[in-house]
Order: sequence, then C-alpha cells, then structure tokens
Amino acid sequence: NDQKKKQTIEGLELLTKFYHYLLTTAKYGAPGMRYLEEREFNQEMIERFRIGYAVDRWDTVTHLLQKRNMNLQYMADAGIIAQRGFDNKYFDRFRNRIIFPIFNMRGQPVAFGGRTLGDAKPKYLNSPESDVFHKGSILYGFHLARPEIRKRSQAVLLEGYVDVVRAHQAGVTCSVASMGTSLTEAQAAALKRIADTIIICYDSDTAGIEASFRAAEMLQGDGKVIKIAKMPEGLDPDDYIRKFGGERFKSDVIGASQTLMTFKMNYLRRKRNLSDEGDRLLYIEDVLRELTAQRRAVERDHYLRLLSEEFSISMDSLRKQLQQMTVKVQ
Ligand code: ATP
Ligand code: MN
Ligand code: MN
Ligand code: MN
Repeated sequence: NDQKKKQTIEGLELLTKFYHYLLTTAKYGAPGMRYLEEREFNQEMIERFRIGYAVDRWDTVTHLLQKRNMNLQYMADAGIIAQRGFDNKYFDRFRNRIIFPIFNMRGQPVAFGGRTLGDAKPKYLNSPESDVFHKGSILYGFHLARPEIRKRSQAVLLEGYVDVVRAHQAGVTCSVASMGTSLTEAQAAALKRIADTIIICYDSDTAGIEASFRAAEMLQGDGKVIKIAKMPEGLDPDDYIRKFGGERFKSDVIGASQTLMTFKMNYLRRKRNLSDEGDRLLYIEDVLRELTAQRRAVERDHYLRLLSEEFSISMDSLRKQLQQMTVKVQ
C-alpha cells in the first residue's frame, strides 16, 4: 500500500509536469493559455501553482502513462483515467480543461481540479477521494501560503482555486481555499495550528455568507481572532480583485473584516430602525439572543459593554437579562 501511494504520487508528479508542458507549448496549449490570459492570470502564477492544460483528446494522457510503464490501475484509482464499459480500454478523464494540481503539505501533487474552458458540466471536475487524496484534510494553496501564514500568524480563507491564485497574484500570499464552502474539522485544525488570526472571505452569495458563519464557529478557539470579510453582493474574491484591484481588496475587504459577532450585529441592526424606541429594544434583545450562544465570558462582556455604552443601559441589567434568556434557551 505504501508502494501504491508512492507510485501514485510519482504518476501525478509526471502528469503535473505534462499538463503544464501542454499549457506552455503553443502547439497544444493555445486554448488554455488564451483562457488564462483572458482571465488575467500572469506567467508567474502559472508557474507558482504549476497550472496546466488537458488537451481535447481521449487518449493523450493514457498514451503517456502506457509509454512510461506507469501502473494504469493506480492512475484509474486516482481518477486520472477511466475504463470504457464495453472493452475495458482506458481513456483520459480530463479533456479540454485547465488543470489546477492540488498539493499536499509536502508540495507533492495528490489530485487535480479541472476547470472547463466553456460551459461543459461540471464546471470543475475533481479527482475523487483516493489513497493519496483526502479532500477534507487538504487546503488548496497551503504548501505555498504556509511560510507567510506562519510569519504573520494570519491566514485568509477563500472558496476556490482561482480565488487563491488571484489573491496570491495580488500579493495576499497567506490565502488558501477550502475548495467549496464546507470547511472540514481537519482543514480548520490545520489552519488553527499555525494562525491566530483567520479571515474568512467566501463568495458573497447566500451560500457563501451562511458558510462563513459555520466556518467561523469551527475556527473559534482560545487565542484565536476569527473575522469575516464582506464584499459587494454576488462577487467572489477573484471578481472583486479584477474589478477593484488588489490594493482595495487588502484595505476594503481584508482590512475591513469584522469579527463574527460584529458581522451579525451589523446584520441585525439593518433589520431595525434604531431611531424608534421599540425597535431599539428589539435590537438589544436580538443581540442578547446571539450572545446566549457565546461561551467565552470575556467576549460576552465585550459585546455587552458595546450595548451598554451605545444605549446607556447598565451592564448589570444586560447581564441579568442575558442570564434569563440563557436559561430559557437551554
Ligand atoms: P470560477 O471563477 O472559475 O467560476 P469559482 O472558484 O468561482 O470558479 P465556485 O462555483 O465559486 O467557482 O466554486 C468554488 C470552489 O468550489 C471551486 O474552486 C472548486 O474548488 C469547488 N467546486 C465548485 N464546483 C465544483 C464541482 N462541480 N465539483 C467539485 N468542486 C467544485
Ligand atoms: Mn460559490
Ligand atoms: Mn466563486
Ligand atoms: Mn469565481
């Protein structure tokens, strides 16, 4: 089994080089290169992330693997090639797609994410779970971002491959992606081990915003500062940076990120009209209700003090009411 893992990774390393070679060789890679140029990815990022291109043929990779005497069954298990039903012949799974190699912590390729150049479904074809790829325990871009995350004890968590590449291109090199919106416990643990401040910047759609709340709860912990970044509705970090530039992303998105509770308080605030006395009381109740779930005394007090100062209510009354609501909730 160790032998299988070793050979699988060797195969994936060979293919990472091959897909990258195809992309950067005009004769084969023109469609892929045109696509990446249209999306404004620069050469440096193509090298750094070892981005590649799978040509629009059924047998290119299969031929290479046969020629190099690679174990085809292993490559099939890793989801690179598949077998036709009627004659068991192998064929390439990734065709006419941009290839984003996914690396483990040691920088070895363990899977690929393949993006269609057009609107073929699925938009992203990913390697399946395998002996070398446990999707839930890998963050895209982690091996490249790790030195910067360590140095600043800060990480930026994004959703997608292109968001990470774009963020690195803009100089935000502590960025990684959960590859979708469902952060796993293992991914959260890996980030928490080396970062005290984690800024979540998921896509600004309903799925992304709700997922940021879940991610924030998972990342919460002693000595951790978890923040949520906000972008205009409908944009993801890649869209935002292309539209407004990297400097504004750093100052207005990353720089303006808020703690989960502040994010929620602003959201609750917008639902009420605070110049109305009744609404003010309802808002205070909304916030207290959120705080019933807050297990950390220091943080609870911090937000109670904000309420106390803004609405001139004694800390004592706020604590009492929170106490009552907490009892009711349990
Ligand atoms: P693009 O800008 O190229 O459309 P994106 O990253 O914005 O890409 P999203 O739809 O926001 O695409 O998805 C975010 C991430 O979720 C992707 O980068 C990928 O890791 C993962 N993902 C999306 N769709 C799929 C899919 N069909 N299968 C597997 N993973 C997917
Ligand atoms: Mn999305
Ligand atoms: Mn997106
Ligand atoms: Mn996008």
